Amino acid sequence: MQTIDKFNFAGKKAFVRVDFNVPLDENFNITDDTRIRAALPTLKKILADGGSPIIGSHLGRPKGVDEKFSLKHIIGRVSELLGVDVQFANDCVGEEAAIKAAALQSGEVLLLENLRFYAEEEGKPRGLAADASDEEKAAAKKAIKESQKEFTKKLASYADCYVNDAFGTAHRAHASTALIAKYFDTNNKMFGYLMEKEVKAVEKVMTDINRPFTAIMGGSKVSSKIDIIENLLSKVDNLIITGGMTYTFTKAKGGKISNSICEDDKLELALDLIEKAKEKGVNLVLAVDAKIADSFSNDANTKFCPVDQIPDGWEGLDIGPETEKIYAEVIKNSKTILWNGPTGVFEFDNFTHGSRSVGEAVVEATKNGAFSLVGGGDSVACVNKFGIADQVSYVSTGGGALLEAIEGKTLPGIAAIREY
Ligand code: AMP
Repeated sequence: MQTIDKFNFAGKKAFVRVDFNVPLDENFNITDDTRIRAALPTLKKILADGGSPIIGSHLGRPKGVDEKFSLKHIIGRVSELLGVDVQFANDCVGEEAAIKAAALQSGEVLLLENLRFYAEEEGKPRGLAADASDEEKAAAKKAIKESQKEFTKKLASYADCYVNDAFGTAHRAHASTALIAKYFDTNNKMFGYLMEKEVKAVEKVMTDINRPFTAIMGGSKVSSKIDIIENLLSKVDNLIITGGMTYTFTKAKGGKISNSICEDDKLELALDLIEKAKEKGVNLVLAVDAKIADSFSNDANTKFCPVDQIPDGWEGLDIGPETEKIYAEVIKNSKTILWNGPTGVFEFDNFTHGSRSVGEAVVEATKNGAFSLVGGGDSVACVNKFGIADQVSYVSTGGGALLEAIEGKTLPGIAAIREY
């Protein structure tokens, strides 16, 4: 497999798929440029070699051409961060894009307009009537798959090589994230630096595991984490199930959870998972006490109680001190740690203590040589809130992509570089 470090971009045009899906305020100012910064090492390497990056990205979820989602809003910031005046093509597959791409000189950068202005990027028909028949749906699907080929081919035609640095969309088999790779031979397609780091981090928790391996799975619902939990049961030594999921497990075991969040249709499933963990010899760690509240609010009255004896009218919004100790003990003795999801409603300052204590234990384990991967929306928000993002081994930039990778799925964006 080709790697970005080995590749010499001198005199080459590189189609670089990045994730510049940055948040913008109502005046189209970027409010967080982390994603642009994350792609800089790749873009700078291409420029330093004497190559010319042709940057493709999506922004938001437009349903067609829509000014609001134009990538022109970010030209200034990208130029500033790269130290090069970035050129812009107003239509990613229009004549202008082809001409500008062809004229691009070594050291110059071209940013293409939002790829998702075209339905072909995602390969899903748009504008189908709500009452469309199955035949109409099938015909529309077939048509878009056909035009997607042309779209992909056009994007590929601009460049000599393809670099995928968009881990955030690696779980999508879109034109620019996966399909385009087949227009480049093995030597001319590669991951960017960010993608490489993400892939390596995932491998460290999925295949190249140093034991004991502890996964901390938080979040509100068992139903949204079930596939991940099942996959992890055949990999981990310890599985901490926490957050809102705690109460579905507690109720399933016969505990009293009163108003706590619970999926009543998942009680059987919870018992099943407890059984499976036993069969596989996984140490399933559940909370023993909770910080409870008399309403779902930061200002609610609070107290601690055993997790299975929550009084009427109260609900568990975080773990209690006994649980914190148990979790910390397990985490500190681990050599590999995966953390996804808070232990409670960390958005409320009065219920962050548990998540913070998990974060501190992860940091301590990391200091002692453990590999720690934090990922999935809310856990990233947690480590940022607690100011510990730089004290864990890796914070993933890809929410959905990371979760699918942990479910054990092959990500199309990764497979496209490795296998096609
Ligand atoms: P998820 O989006 O499924 O990863 O879940 C994260 C969300 O779960 C966060 O917004 C938390 O506020 C929420 N959460 C965690 N613990 C609880 C709880 N005990 N009760 C209600 N929501 C919770």
